[in-house]
Amino acid sequence: MIVNIISLCYLVAVVLFIVGIRWMAHPDTARKGNLTALWGMVLAIAAAFFTPGLENIVLILVAMVIGTAVGLWMAQSVQMTAMPQMVSFFNGMGGASAALIGLVEYGGLPGHEIGRGSVLMASVILGSVSFSGSLVAMGKLQGVLKDIRVNKVLGFMLLLSAIALAGYVLTADAAHPALVYAVVLISLLYGLAFVYPIGGADMPVVISLLNALTGVTAATTGVLYDNKVMLMGGILVGSAGLLLTLLMAKAMNRSVLDILFKSFGSASGAAATGVAGDQTVREINQYDTAILLSYAKKVVVVPGYGLAVAQAQHIVHDLEKALAEKGVELIYGIHPVAGRMPGHMNVLLAESDVSYDLLVEMDNVNPQLPSTDVVMVIGANDVVNPAANDDPSSPIYGMPIIEVSKAKNVIVIKRGMSAGYAGIENPLFFLENTKMLFGDAKKVLTGLVAEVKNM
Ligand code: NDP
Repeated sequence: MIVNIISLCYLVAVVLFIVGIRWMAHPDTARKGNLTALWGMVLAIAAAFFTPGLENIVLILVAMVIGTAVGLWMAQSVQMTAMPQMVSFFNGMGGASAALIGLVEYGGLPGHEIGRGSVLMASVILGSVSFSGSLVAMGKLQGVLKDIRVNKVLGFMLLLSAIALAGYVLTADAAHPALVYAVVLISLLYGLAFVYPIGGADMPVVISLLNALTGVTAATTGVLYDNKVMLMGGILVGSAGLLLTLLMAKAMNRSVLDILFKSFGSASGAAATGVAGDQTVREINQYDTAILLSYAKKVVVVPGYGLAVAQAQHIVHDLEKALAEKGVELIYGIHPVAGRMPGHMNVLLAESDVSYDLLVEMDNVNPQLPSTDVVMVIGANDVVNPAANDDPSSPIYGMPIIEVSKAKNVIVIKRGMSAGYAGIENPLFFLENTKMLFGDAKKVLTGLVAEVKNM
């Protein structure tokens, strides 16, 4: 009877996960979706406590209290700009948990149980790769780790050795706990070798793939424990992560296999200096920018990571309202990998109540640019870099960009001439129709709103 009730709770939890994910697909229902999935998780955890034969309940509760306290503290104290790093960290913790569970369960594995043993080894290998890979991704997003070239053959050898060793452990006559630790160690090394060389603009694809890996490890752990909610939750995360990986790769016009196995993608372009050959940038001041904007018919704002750093999402909405009062149409051009996490710009602008209808995806905004009077690039760099179209030697060559140079006027708001995440020079800044408005995005936009209102 109790087992049936637990199964029913798990089924309801899975339905709540699916409905939650569905609702998360739109900003209007995203908050509701998040809460719905949360209640699904609460139900699943509560039901698990009634599992017949459950031991160590006190230990489980202590671990939950510590985990909840740390999670709450991190989620509340993290800066919005550090959110992508935190997501990577949490993802890595999921992988580590799966690997640890695999280690613990190896002790209880009856000899020669190949089916269950293979699932366990998959948990150990994938969980370890996801753990070390996510920590490297976190360090790269934080800007404390740089790309390091790693020979791909060496990386492959590591992965193959981990799989071969796991195979030996599974088929050996005696138990070999030390070798399982060796599998963990080699897999951890492979995680480092896998993510370290992935350069600048290719990181979004790898981050989504690591998400998918952690989902798969949750699913394998679900198989180990015959726990259906874990299995289905893992499959949901794994498949959503895989879809996102494919979408990100498509958005970057890259093949996932190329990113993982061919190109190093490391930043090799020239460092930004403000002077390209004999070209220098042209500056504009706030007053002249306000005139351009106020007398424009159509303005497109292209936000990037710098908008998030400056926390300028509210003030850009104020500018949109001030211009609307003057009859100027303003829309936002959203690049799929702008910022540091999938959907970053959508989340940021939704926070300041920008209407979702004004957010126009790259493919739809590009055809509108030739008839646009002013494009304002705010804290974006790589996603508007024409080298992606024109320079075959550029590490971002082939990545679709928002083609802002096709507009009549381009104003770029950034603090200086620093490069973006890919670490390369941006020829856009030197074009004739581009003017640089230097300064912190929030400060500059605050001044612009005042100027526009005075006009
Ligand atoms: P970029 O990282 O290319 O550029 C951001 C620019 O913002 C910088 O050049 C910086 O210049 C400027 N900036 C920083 N702070 C401020 C501020 N306070 N005010 C004004 N400007 C500021 O951002 P994009 O959004 O164009 O591109 C995203 C990049 O990140 C891509 O390469 C993408 O591949 C990568 N990436 C994306 C992920 C995703 O999932 N979306 C995940 C991982 C990586 P300055 O210092 O001179 O002000």
